[in-house]
Amino acid sequence: MDAKCPNCEFHGSFMDTHAHMVDAHEELVEISRSGSKNYYRVTCGVCGESHQSPIKPGYVGDSFLKEFNREIRVVGCDMLLSHLLGAHPELYMLSS
Ligand SMILES: [Zn+2]
Ligand SMILES: [Zn+2]
Repeated sequence: MDAKCPNCEFHGSFMDTHAHMVDAHEELVEISRSGSKNYYRVTCGVCGESHQSPIKPGYVGDSFLKEFNREIRVVGCDMLLSHLLGAHPELYMLSS
């Protein structure tokens, strides 16, 4: 079973597609700040469903965001790809 990238024609195993999304499509995971908390949000381009979660408390400030930006995208892309495969397998799950 292969997974397809939501933003381009890339496809591969779940692991490969996940790594590709993290490295190639920073825009898939939005990081925002509300008060003293930082959040990340991923939005499904098919059904518009979005999922927002707070980033662990205790980490605040821009230096945190830069340093951990990739780690946050890893988590966010995992969530998004899992949603795409679970809710829209006809579009994102490819039989190899
Ligand atoms: Zn892509
Ligand atoms: Zn969806």
